[in-house]
Amino acid sequence: MGLCCVECFGDSFIKGYILDMGQAGDCDYCGSKGVAIAGTRHVGGFIRDGLSRAYEPLCENGIRKSLAADRRLHEAFTVREAFEEEGIFSEWVVERGGDGRLYEDLVRDSGDERCDIPDLLEGGHATLILRDQFNVETGTGATVFDFSWREFKDYVKHYARFFDVGGTRRTAGGKTGDGKREGLKTGRDQILEPISELLKRLSLTLPRGQAVFRATKARDIPYAPDTKDRRVRAVGPAPVSRSSHNRMSPPGISYMNCSSEPDTCISEIRPAVGERVYLGKFVVRKNLSIIDLSAMRRIKQSVFDPGYYHPARWASDFLDKFRMEISRPLLPDDSPVQYIPTQVFAEFVRERGYAGIKYRSSQLRSGHNFTMFCGPRASDYPLEGQKGERRGAGILEPFTRWLRLEAIQTVEITGIQFEYRLLCE
Ligand SMILES: [Zn+2]
Repeated sequence: MGLCCVECFGDSFIKGYILDMGQAGDCDYCGSKGVAIAGTRHVGGFIRDGLSRAYEPLCENGIRKSLAADRRLHEAFTVREAFEEEGIFSEWVVERGGDGRLYEDLVRDSGDERCDIPDLLEGGHATLILRDQFNVETGTGATVFDFSWREFKDYVKHYARFFDVGGTRRTAGGKTGDGKREGLKTGRDQILEPISELLKRLSLTLPRGQAVFRATKARDIPYAPDTKDRRVRAVGPAPVSRSSHNRMSPPGISYMNCSSEPDTCISEIRPAVGERVYLGKFVVRKNLSIIDLSAMRRIKQSVFDPGYYHPARWASDFLDKFRMEISRPLLPDDSPVQYIPTQVFAEFVRERGYAGIKYRSSQLRSGHNFTMFCGPRASDYPLEGQKGERRGAGILEPFTRWLRLEAIQTVEITGIQFEYRLLCE
């Protein structure tokens, strides 16, 4: 058994474990002197416990094995790859060339003692897969959450859009961590529950004073923006009577879509050369809590955290799929049905109390868009004048409460640049 130290590891929970051992000395692997150290047998055991929260050996049954061989073997890990995937070693020990020896000792020294229970790592020769990776009973080879995103889409497109009609449905499930069979819950709330947790980590404050831009084609505006009221109306959200299908909103519900830069919002409306465009610059009036889906980083929790929550791993896949879907360009031939899943999910985000979603533009690679969950002014809704201003849950606040129009410009499109790739000759 060797002695490894806090400096050998990148994961903060493993570092914490070594510090808690309360032993100081010299490290056999990275050469650090007078640091917190622990035996490879103990640290190896701690690492095994963490890995078993997220991984299981592929050899468990034949179906899994054939599925993996079939199509998903690239998603299986060697033990060494799982160590890398979980960011176990520090750059420090890697640079000093101690990681190979440390890896072997951690696996070997922690394995001896546990010969009475199945060895997750099989002496380092195991092929590991993420728990619940294969939905065995569907035989599709899809991951649970991959399946759930597809099922979610299918469900809201073709079965029930607005309510979970018939309550929670249950379909075939995988095995849970403790080996019990559990139905995979497919009611919307159940699917989306782990995602609510992730949303908290993706929230971002759009600060008061931040500028955002929105463009409209002049030919869509049947009046000249010559008064303050008309200017605000010209570059504000579409009136509900004219709001059409959108990635985030169905016809009749109008959100404020805007961009972080003028070029992006102009690209988004796809004007023709020679066309006139009204470009509005808005300033955010109050801090707004929004969901940031623009960064491509994966939100990953350490498996060595005792509070590790495995469903969140799938939830992040679900969000990745949503993110890919909203940054795919809309095409004129797209069926409106295709937008329904993202519209329903956007409403879920809104229902959780967020003010909007930030995402990457499909039209301008460097640009960012915002869908803000605020709507046209109250006077643009049909019931205004009968009941006065409507308030309460589910009523979209007028965008003028969140954003102040600072300037409006009329611009003419003088040229458009394209990027393209070759598909066939
Ligand atoms: Zn060390």
